[in-house]
Amino acid sequence: MAYALQKILKSASGGIVTRAFSVSAVQKSSEHPNGFNFELNDTQKEIQAVARKFAREEIAPAAPHHDRTGEYPAELVKKAWELGFVNPHIPEHCGGLNQGVFDACLVGEELAWGCSGIATAIGSSCLGQMPVILTGTKEQQKKYLGRLIDEPLVAAYGVTEPGTGSDVNGVKTRAEKKGDEWILNGQKMWITNAGVANWYFVLARTNPDPKCPAAKAFTGFIVDRDTPGVTPGRKELNMGQRASDTRGVTFEDVRIPKENVLLGEGAGFKIAMGAFDKTRPPVACAATGIAQRCLDEATKYSLERKTFGVPIAHHQAIAFILADMAIGVETARLAWMKAAWEADNGIRNSYSASIAKSYAADVANKSASDAVQVFGGAGFNSEYPVEKLMRDAKIYHIYEGTTQIQKLVVSRSVIDATKSA
Ligand SMILES: Cc1cc2nc3c(=O)[nH]c(=O)nc-3n(C[C@H](O)[C@H](O)[C@H](O)COP(=O)(O)OP(=O)(O)OC[C@H]3O[C@@H](n4cnc5c(N)ncnc54)[C@H](O)[C@@H]3O)c2cc1C
Repeated sequence: MAYALQKILKSASGGIVTRAFSVSAVQKSSEHPNGFNFELNDTQKEIQAVARKFAREEIAPAAPHHDRTGEYPAELVKKAWELGFVNPHIPEHCGGLNQGVFDACLVGEELAWGCSGIATAIGSSCLGQMPVILTGTKEQQKKYLGRLIDEPLVAAYGVTEPGTGSDVNGVKTRAEKKGDEWILNGQKMWITNAGVANWYFVLARTNPDPKCPAAKAFTGFIVDRDTPGVTPGRKELNMGQRASDTRGVTFEDVRIPKENVLLGEGAGFKIAMGAFDKTRPPVACAATGIAQRCLDEATKYSLERKTFGVPIAHHQAIAFILADMAIGVETARLAWMKAAWEADNGIRNSYSASIAKSYAADVANKSASDAVQVFGGAGFNSEYPVEKLMRDAKIYHIYEGTTQIQKLVVSRSVIDATKSA
């Protein structure tokens, strides 16, 4: 496998790709005299440049086609896989890069600038992989993560159901132990990659007692897509990010070997929720990528479009819209960077990851609406780039925990800290 990223990491580390190297200098603030540092190191700049080139030269030109048709961008996902952008966190013993969250987010922001739907198709395998990366045995990792390195395959994360999303305790999919196997029955909904994944992480109820606490009632399974009884539904027609594959999945008497249980019976809720500390910063970075694209498109257009004898950028009302967008982009970027930095440094980051995800989603949505305003009538038309950005931005208020759920996490942290002070 010739990952471009692997080459960059190798050349910068004298031939050895190590975790220590992929956690970059910017993350080791203790090495800086002021204890704080905003500069990317040379390797990060190079990784960012590769992602930017790919996003601008290959993703952005293909975006309108995939938005219009809803066609899954298989070729671009394959190219991204070759570049090393699909599996950043897979450990070295499975042949992966073992890259940190921060560096992967640098890539994610660039890809989302090109098209956040295609970026979701490229990046969402990480969400399916994360429970296995965090809690899988060496054997499970080698079998299921290793195959994603050997071939351009992707994974999916199956928690949400038709009847429940935010309230994970309401999951009804159930698994019953029969000898050395578990029998899985139920239905998942809104699962990204469901139609293209090679395997799924699936959360199922294994303790039928309704009084059993969530922390013990659920189990996490790795489910091969080709197991008899697994049926993905039709591709959903979404408001935005149409390149991404979203479907329901039905499980009917699916036999899962006991070796595919993650961590142990009853550990599923913690595994499913634990993944978010690592995967919410990437969602926030993608929302920031959309906001940056809005700013870039709106600024360019405002210098070309003239009213009352001057480019509209010269009207202060328009210039201040651009200023507000820039303020949002810069601060959303800082928010994801902090959350990602904490994740890489072993600092509990649920609070900052929820702040980053919630804030960047708002910035993306406001920037997209403002970009449409700057474009005037052209902003409302699909021949111009910004109406797509507005449709794409909305999902950042919804997936990987809605904005309201992020605010629950943040408010609980604030209240608990004050109570225990
Ligand atoms: C395109 C797309 C891709 C997705 N990909 C995946 C995936 O790969 N895997 C996966 O498992 N899921 C996925 N999801 C599901 C997504 O995570 C859920 O839609 C989301 O968590 C919200 O759940 P829900 O739709 O059931 O809404 P509900 O939970 O029913 O919420 C409805 C509304 O009520 C609000 N609300 C709920 N509870 C509270 C509360 N306690 N306080 C205040 N407000 C509250 C919510 O914020 C929301 O506004 C995806 C969804 C979409 C649309």
